[in-house]
Amino acid sequence: CHIDYQPAADLLEGRVILVTGAGDGIGRAAARCFAAHGATLILVGRTLAKLEAVYDEIEVAGGPQPAIFPLNFEGATSKEYHELAGTLSREFGRLDGLLHNAGLLGDMAPFADYDLELWERVMHVNVTGPLWMTQALLPLLQASRDASVILTSSSVGRKARAKWGAYAVSKFATEGFMQLLADELAGTSSVRVNTLNPGATRTAMRRRAYPEEDPTTLRTPDAIMPTYLWLMGPDSRERTGEAFDAQPPRTSRPGHVAG
Ligand code: NDP
Repeated sequence: CHIDYQPAADLLEGRVILVTGAGDGIGRAAARCFAAHGATLILVGRTLAKLEAVYDEIEVAGGPQPAIFPLNFEGATSKEYHELAGTLSREFGRLDGLLHNAGLLGDMAPFADYDLELWERVMHVNVTGPLWMTQALLPLLQASRDASVILTSSSVGRKARAKWGAYAVSKFATEGFMQLLADELAGTSSVRVNTLNPGATRTAMRRRAYPEEDPTTLRTPDAIMPTYLWLMGPDSRERTGEAFDAQPPRTSRPGHVAG
């Protein structure tokens, strides 16, 4: 765990970094934090107003001017991913970081009762869409001297638990895709690919999964940013194909397992 990592103020200076789900929760914190460390952000998400609010926050804080690309993983097609790649290619010619953070929880329900249409939506938003986006962005990542791809996992993507349904399976698929891509790129490319499990974090998604929980017992998105910075920046350059955690496991507190 790298929660105590002390990043240099200019850690991400000059880097172009795309964050999905950048309008809320952990993605919003990551976008603001990366910009505060010098990166130019591409803010991707489905709710334009939220992306605009993050854009303004970055500008007010004096960060490099970000770009906004509204995109809904549920309906997006390969055409939109290639449009995104085309825009980034013209504007920047490369991509130094890609944080796949957007995610859909779906229902907390036993598999026997799980709605199959919802199952497919969760798989599409959490796996298929990000995977297609990654394929479209690969040439830009390979044009970077040192690119970091971070896929957001979960503790149920490493050990599934009852009623986590499509979400758990989608996070296992995320781990599998990370291993596949990391192995294909190892040794031949400057692109590294890892997963990061944020651990229990105070966001709207966590609240939906654990409505009874007192949110003040959880770390905020800002508090877990040291690990995000470490994995996005040059200090983790040699690492690829690995599964990381942003927080120590909460095993000492039964009943408060991370999602
Ligand atoms: P939030 O629900 O707070 O934020 C999710 C973000 O993803 C939102 O910005 C949301 O957009 C965006 N999003 C959802 N669906 C789509 C879509 N179809 N197209 C584009 N964007 C979409 O969740 P968190 O911040 O908690 O989660 C971030 C990541 O961390 C997720 O991958 C989640 O699985 C993972 N995670 C979170 C944990 C936690 O405890 N919070 C624990 C383990 C993993 P909008 O704001 O417009 O809805």
